[in-house]
Amino acid sequence: MSEVKQIGLYLHLPFCTQKCHYCDFSSWAGREDLKQPYLNALLGELGSYRTDQQDMVVSTIFMGGGTPTLFDGEILVQLLEKCRDTFHIQDKAEISIECNPGTADRNKLETLARGGFNRLSIGLQAWQNHHLENLGRIHRRRHFEDTISWAKQAGFSNISADVIFGLPGQSWEEWRETLEEAVAAGVTHLSAYSLKIEEGTVFYQWQQQEKLREMEEEQERFLYHQGAALLEELGLKQYEISNFAYPGWECRHNLNYWRNGEYIGCGCSAHSYYQSLRRGNVMDMIQYIERIQSGMPAAEFQEETDTQTEVFETLMLGFRLNEGINKEAFHSRFGFSLSERYRKTIEELKGQGLLTEDTQALRPTSLGFDLQNRIALAFLD
Ligand code: SF4
Repeated sequence: MSEVKQIGLYLHLPFCTQKCHYCDFSSWAGREDLKQPYLNALLGELGSYRTDQQDMVVSTIFMGGGTPTLFDGEILVQLLEKCRDTFHIQDKAEISIECNPGTADRNKLETLARGGFNRLSIGLQAWQNHHLENLGRIHRRRHFEDTISWAKQAGFSNISADVIFGLPGQSWEEWRETLEEAVAAGVTHLSAYSLKIEEGTVFYQWQQQEKLREMEEEQERFLYHQGAALLEELGLKQYEISNFAYPGWECRHNLNYWRNGEYIGCGCSAHSYYQSLRRGNVMDMIQYIERIQSGMPAAEFQEETDTQTEVFETLMLGFRLNEGINKEAFHSRFGFSLSERYRKTIEELKGQGLLTEDTQALRPTSLGFDLQNRIALAFLD
């Protein structure tokens, strides 16, 4: 009998109250009229997997967006039920949902917890109201405080917050306050991303008009390293370039991506990596709905991965993780020794202080975290 694979399942819910000034994600504001047609399409796409799942078990589910909590709690629970009807879900599956402060009250959070969601990922971004306003966020600090307190009362113990550093004019004291207050509020996990100014956003427009200046790289790196050291002191270990958690509270869904495991993504812009096929769904929400309504596949591209690509991807994703690449797992997946095949490259990267090695694993150093591209290029060569 073939081995039962563990996979992750991602559902994309692309509705937002307003578009944040830095956001270029696949999300739309002011399209409430499309909520029901989108939901129908999503259920339709999920249904297409019905006959295709004998050899796998879903160990993590992640509903992201957008702002999934703009939907009623009952609807989100029904969507989760549809996942249960469609796939075999592991008993102890991690089931996460993203939530923006100001979009989920106590009742909604209780409905979600009762319905089986067991991990909440809250978009905090910054502690200071002036930064939240500048970012175009709909919420203020007190909304985050309410959300986390209601979440705990509803029974959520696995709570993450997303935060951003490198904000225009952000000082170390402000970044430190954001991290300290988030941890004091009771999160078990933090995702800390550096602000990137992307084309098509309000921030990009402001930058073109010279109303906004990107933080100098040196200052941005300073905030990153100081922040990582502070979180370490507070007990949250860095387990990925941008992710920190108390031991045992790492995000299993994202770990599966970084370990180059298989996953299925449903919804506009969602990606899948399943049975050696990488697929990307159409980005646009309306096109997504139309495709599903007319019986077309949601994916607009699909490519088969060969072993060489899979090896490279496994290395690149794995070096984002503190745990690095486990040599035995690599050998059993690909049938050859990582240390032997890439000995010269490994020695060079060790010599440059980018990797460390022991009998079990190859791991990135703190410098290696900073210089990911150099590691990637060395292995590509
Ligand atoms: S809430 Fe998130 S997805 Fe929505 S606009 Fe803001 S950053 Fe983008």
